[in-house]
Amino acid sequence: MCGIIGVFGNPNAAKLAAIGMFAEQHRGQESCGMAVSDGHVIRLHKRMGLVKEVFTEQVLARLQGSIAIGHVRYPTTGSATEFNSQPHLLETLFGPSHALASNGDVVNYKSMRQKLEAQGVFFNSDNDAELLLRYIAWQIYQNGSSITEAIRMMMKDVKGAYSAVFMVRDALYMFRDPLNMRPMVWSRMEDGTTVVASESCALTTLGMHEFKEVPAAGIIRVNKQGITIVENDPNLYRPTKEVRHCIFEHVYFSRPDSHHFDENVYEVRQAIGAKLAAQDEGLEVDLVVPVPDSSNFIGQGYANYKGLPLALGLIRNHYVGRSFIKPSQRYRDESVRQKYNVLPNFFKGKKVVLVDDSIVRGTTIGKIVKLLREAGASEVHLRIGSPQVKHSCYFGIDTPDESVLVANRLSIPEITEASSADSLKHISIEELRECVRLPDHYCYACFDGQYPLEVES
Ligand code: SF4
Repeated sequence: MCGIIGVFGNPNAAKLAAIGMFAEQHRGQESCGMAVSDGHVIRLHKRMGLVKEVFTEQVLARLQGSIAIGHVRYPTTGSATEFNSQPHLLETLFGPSHALASNGDVVNYKSMRQKLEAQGVFFNSDNDAELLLRYIAWQIYQNGSSITEAIRMMMKDVKGAYSAVFMVRDALYMFRDPLNMRPMVWSRMEDGTTVVASESCALTTLGMHEFKEVPAAGIIRVNKQGITIVENDPNLYRPTKEVRHCIFEHVYFSRPDSHHFDENVYEVRQAIGAKLAAQDEGLEVDLVVPVPDSSNFIGQGYANYKGLPLALGLIRNHYVGRSFIKPSQRYRDESVRQKYNVLPNFFKGKKVVLVDDSIVRGTTIGKIVKLLREAGASEVHLRIGSPQVKHSCYFGIDTPDESVLVANRLSIPEITEASSADSLKHISIEELRECVRLPDHYCYACFDGQYPLEVES
């Protein structure tokens, strides 16, 4: 999972992109990067680290230009190195000419890379966004395609989830995979600046309050002549009848103040909480405690439904980062231990419903239940805002090995016992579908194994 941003038509493009990237920092914390064009030269800066650390005032002052694309990275395809960080840049005899950044994962990376390498195309990284860039450039330089044609050809051949920004020296392009798996919205400022981002929270941070989705398999070109929307026929490329947004964007990944896939994220989470509460008609408890921050609104939905107090009894250290998106188990374990603490003298003798968004590896939840027990909670009932995660995601979330998923190792009673909870319930897929307006437009593959695309082994 990653976050992208694109800015066109503003002398402070780099600064605006950095603000947008900071708003999307929750989508990736390992590395970040930005490419900026002044109409003649494209300059690139990317490093391991957070946006505020990498894009200092001095660095931004060097990135002069009116077009910028930026990226925050959470590694899925390719290791956590500066090499694999984005944007990727295409160097030609006349200097850097094209740059690209993407959110998502390509599922036929291996065969596509082999195809391009057989044509003499060289790669600098193992990152699938570079494949998108090399494919488009190959179509342009080898086959004489226009940029729009090259992107269309790429969409026919390269399968997977991608919400991408692409720049040349005098134009910005945004495009999206035919299944619309990852969020991508765009808008215009009053002064005419065009901005595209993974999440609308980046646009609202920049003062825009109305936004549009980039259409499925669509391409939007922004240059001095204006905005051109190339609405591709999505049926040409799509393996299923409908789009397949990632349901996990609503459950966990996106910020609650974002709006995409025609939903307010916080409202979907509240609806999930209410569904969980409706399963618990007979359960008598004192408090509802969400695991902060992504479960806050699920907890609120639960508490509202039951008429119980929502208690912010767990305190999260915000400087640790999101444990789920740390790239190795060692880092995940360390960050869970340092991440949560309980309010003193708060839980003694209390019966608690503890609400979390998901159980993936089982790393976090047992430790949190233990914290509540040690603080004196007399009962802890776990309620989980997603069905059991039993299958790997190949579209941008790091659950590569199914044996790592606790739902494949332990039954629900065993997980309840291992986490020392009094009870454990998940929302069902059917109930989750009832929480969104267009349930057939979503991917639920990590719960039911029904992948919307064939995944290359
Ligand atoms: S498999 Fe799960 S996490 Fe991956 S895109 Fe589908 S719903 Fe989202």
